[in-house]
Amino acid sequence: MKKITKEFLAEKYDELYKKAVELQKKYSPCGFKKKGGKTTCVAGRDGKNYCKENPNDNFCCDGCRYLGADGCTTEALRCQIWFCGYLYENGLDSELKKELDQLVSETWDYGFFVFRGSKQDNLYEAYYKFGLLRTIRF
Ligand code: SF4
Ligand code: SF4
Repeated sequence: MKKITKEFLAEKYDELYKKAVELQKKYSPCGFKKKGGKTTCVAGRDGKNYCKENPNDNFCCDGCRYLGADGCTTEALRCQIWFCGYLYENGLDSELKKELDQLVSETWDYGFFVFRGSKQDNLYEAYYKFGLLRTIRF
């Protein structure tokens, strides 16, 4: 594996995020629809609730600090490769699953673990994983 530096991790994050967005575009598993200023997904329209933080809503992004009027306002890799139980129970496309497996594995390898997290939030976790944070001595 190439030497891990902060610059390398930032580039790797961009690369994986781009792939994740391409997968979302190619398969559109969540079936987003916008109506009356509110975005809904297939799970929500079927009355299923996958939002633990805001149980009155049916959309897994509800309540997130990064959710804006037109959707996510940050590059949240971990969210792009996460799908709820409803989608798995109702048959997530097998080709999507295959492509996803590789992406998930790489995302984990580099320590980009933060769900509902920005690129910076994730890079911070990765710096920690690879010992790139300075320690403070008292
Ligand atoms: S992952 Fe599930 S709950 Fe989240 S947007 Fe997609 S269908 Fe909706
Ligand atoms: S960070 Fe994740 S949960 Fe928050 S708005 Fe973006 S995709 Fe949704």
